Amino acid sequence: MEYIERKSLLYKTGVEYGDFTLNHVQGCSHGCLYPCYAYMMARRFGRVKNINEWMDPKLVSNAIELLEKEIPKFKDKITSVHLCFTTAPFMYGYQEICDKSIEIINLLNSNDIPCTALTKGILPKSLDTTSKINSHGITLISLDENYRKKFEPNSAPYTERINSLKYLHNKGYKTWVSIEPYPTPNIIEQDFSKILEQISFVDKIIFGRLNYYKKVREYKEYQEFYNNLSDIVVDYCIKNSKEYHIKNGTYKEIATAK
Ligand code: SF4
Repeated sequence: MEYIERKSLLYKTGVEYGDFTLNHVQGCSHGCLYPCYAYMMARRFGRVKNINEWMDPKLVSNAIELLEKEIPKFKDKITSVHLCFTTAPFMYGYQEICDKSIEIINLLNSNDIPCTALTKGILPKSLDTTSKINSHGITLISLDENYRKKFEPNSAPYTERINSLKYLHNKGYKTWVSIEPYPTPNIIEQDFSKILEQISFVDKIIFGRLNYYKKVREYKEYQEFYNNLSDIVVDYCIKNSKEYHIKNGTYKEIATAK
């Protein structure tokens, strides 16, 4: 695989549920076609020219050296570090990226900094050697493999993702699921309760709408749809003593929604 060097790594994210974050890979082979916000930004700011370049990930070769300098500087301000908002830390089929992610997590943990991981790949079993202060997550927006192949073409199959998360749950780690970006029924008809059933063991659920895909607005009742699902997530989490977060812009009062 190819490598790049960066000048800095750790930063405070603007993402509503994040604290500090880092992205030790440029690009992402999963190639999501919702489209991927990280890809749109990378193209806008000239980091990549097209989707093919985006899907050819480049590992930051000096990630550990940067962290060793940056951790002492930011340590007192950090509550947790999220891997990753603009790439996949456990990219499907990229062992070197997975190994580097675990090395980074261990380095942060050795400074008493908890990590949260989120991926559409498979969470490696070897995460069970990391500190229990970490929490591990997957993105899950469907159980339909045809949908995955169409919109998240190179990501891990849903069952494998869920099983990898369950393994870490059974090992005593806090686990979570990001149900985002969730599609409207004119894109795919699916039974939301079946998704909740599959992830009933997790500690936290994040729910968010699909934002940048024009078919969403073609679904006339899209806001009612997202409001209803937001209510279902909140009720389900309260009833089952789980944490939850409904992403900004997902739930809106109907009178001001359009
Ligand atoms: S997994 Fe995330 S970063 Fe990778 S292509 Fe999909 S949306 Fe983009």
